[in-house]
This record gives sequence, structure tokens and C-alpha cells, in this order.
Amino acid sequence: MAPYAAREESGKGRRYRERPAAYRGEYQRDRDRIIHSTAFRRLVYKTQVFVNHEGDLYRTRLTHSLEVAQIARTVARALHINEPLVEAISLAHDLGHTPFGHAGQDALNACMRNFGGFEHNLQSLRVVDDLEEKYADFPGLNLTFETREGILKHCSARNARDLGELGRRFLERGQPGLEAQLVNLADAIAYNNHDVDDGFRAGLLDLDQLREQPLFGEHYDEVHARYPDLDDRRLIYEVIRRMIGHVVTDLIEQSSFRIAQLAPQSIEDVRAANGPVIGFSDRVFTQHKALKEFLRSNLYRHEQVRRMNDETKVIVESLFDTYMADFGQIPATFADQANAHNEAQRARVVADYIAGMTDRFAIAEYERLS
Ligand code: MG
Repeated sequence: MAPYAAREESGKGRRYRERPAAYRGEYQRDRDRIIHSTAFRRLVYKTQVFVNHEGDLYRTRLTHSLEVAQIARTVARALHINEPLVEAISLAHDLGHTPFGHAGQDALNACMRNFGGFEHNLQSLRVVDDLEEKYADFPGLNLTFETREGILKHCSARNARDLGELGRRFLERGQPGLEAQLVNLADAIAYNNHDVDDGFRAGLLDLDQLREQPLFGEHYDEVHARYPDLDDRRLIYEVIRRMIGHVVTDLIEQSSFRIAQLAPQSIEDVRAANGPVIGFSDRVFTQHKALKEFLRSNLYRHEQVRRMNDETKVIVESLFDTYMADFGQIPATFADQANAHNEAQRARVVADYIAGMTDRFAIAEYERLS
């Protein structure tokens, strides 16, 4: 491992001290705790773009997280940074997502506007710090600072102030370690590519549209010239795998170049840098961004996706209002209920409860209550 990688010896440790494990490193241990968590298992029934019951072959939050981990690990290995840490962050990065993807998060955020709002990124941290109840000695999963640093991708200044050391970089404009920077981009590489696949499968994107995208078009022409008779389904896979290869290779090469320029001697040098060190070349960044914007206007805002989003918004709002009006509807076993002394605290418990739901559980609850 390179000197600028996150290292256990110089790590900032866990919130509650623990004895080291016999056969595993600290970041491996974090990864294992994440995989054993309840929130992780729920990801299988949470929407990425398509609601779970729309079809069995679409990505879910779980398969998305696995794809992020797979991409990030390749890059981590090539850059000689901490692979177990990268895997832990990848698997945990979406634990705080509500049911129904971004539509669910926006709806819950609107419900929470008078009570501090709702942000899935901060919620992922809440899940690992507080909401998982699995250990006798501490709340949450008691993960290392570096894994928590990677999970907290963004944070408002107001929330950052309450987070102490972990929130400091948002107030002082510092950077996280390379492992955290990497997962952030691996996330975008994963969804950009799998959403092309899912969007095409759903019939919401067609080949003519996609070919106008520089990143897609370039690889499409190559594949089509070489395999003129290939059917569309296999052609799409062939193009996507080349697109992933293309951006991942660029990410490795460009990041190696920037690391060589900065020549950091430790993770602290990385944290003190003026900007992120992990990144694409200008050319690939432009292509990657164009594809992201294309997906936003043609898939995420597609009439059919929007209609589904509107329906799920009603579910989240209705659950929120019902629980706020009748707090007893929340199971007594649900974690923080005892702390709900005022309206804002009750709202937070309700938000935690709803955020933890799978798509299908939220739908069942909605039907039960209405
Ligand atoms: Mg993600």
C-alpha cells in the first residue's frame, strides 16, 4: 500500500474503543459489520430507479452497491490504496436511502422541512452510528472514522457543526481520504452505466437517442463495425462494458498522474489538498457529465418514471402524516421512540422509521393504514 493510503496504524479509530480482531483488519471488520446489518439486507427491496415490483431484472440499491464496490476495488488496487476500506464505504454508501429512490427522499425531506430536513447521506451515517442495534456495548456499528468519513459525502454547514471532527472538513473545505473520493466517483460510474442498461430494458431509452451521446456513440460505432449482426441486447452490453472500461481506465490514469504531481506522503496530505485528487481527465469528465445529464432529462424525468414517482410521493407523505397524527402506529420496538418527547423528536423517529422501510413494506403499510 502507498503511503497516502488510509492506514489502520494512523487511523482515527472508532467512537467506542474495542480490542483488535484476531484475523481481520479494522476496515475488513467494518465491511463485515455492514454486510451483517439489517439496513444492508433491506437494500435488496429498495428502488434504484425502477420500483422493485416493476421487474426482477432492474438494479436495486443492493446490486447497485455491489457494482460500486466492484468498480471501486479495481481502482483501489491499481492505485495502491486501501481496498477493504473502499469496499466498506461502497457497501454502506446508500444505507440511508428511503424507499422509492430519490422521489422518496425528496418527499421525506419536504415532510421534514420544519424539523431539520432529511438527507439520505446523513441518514446513512445515522444508520451506522445510531440506528442499527446489534451490539451489547455500543449503539450502531461503531465503524472506524475513515469509513464514516467516506459515508458522509456531503453535509450542510449546520449539520456539520454537530458532527465534531467528522464534520470539520465541510466547514474548513478539506478533502476526505482517497478511498472516500474514489467511492464517490465509482458510484457515479456505476449508475451512469447501469441506468443506460435498465432504461433500455424498460424501453424508455432507445438506441438512436443513446448513439447521440459521445461516450455511448463512440463505443457503439466500434462494436457495430466489428459485430454488424449483433442483436441489440448483446450490443448494449458490449457497449456498456466498454464504456465502464474506458472511464475506469481514465480514472486510474488521471488519478495516478495527479497523485504523482501532489506527491502526498500521508492521508493528512491528501486531506489538506486544495481539491480532490481522484478524478477523470477533462475529456472523460465532459463525456461522463453529458451522459449523466442525458439520463436526467431522458430517464429520471421520463413521463413513466415521473408517474411512478408521483405515486410513491403520495405514499411517503401519507405515511408521515398518519404516524405524526397517531404515533402509536409505529411499533413499540422501534428504536428511538422513547426519546420522542417533542414534535421535532417525534418527526425524526417517524423519518427514521419510514427511511428504513423497503418499497414493498411501505406500500403494505400505506394500504394497511388507508
Ligand atoms: Mg449510490
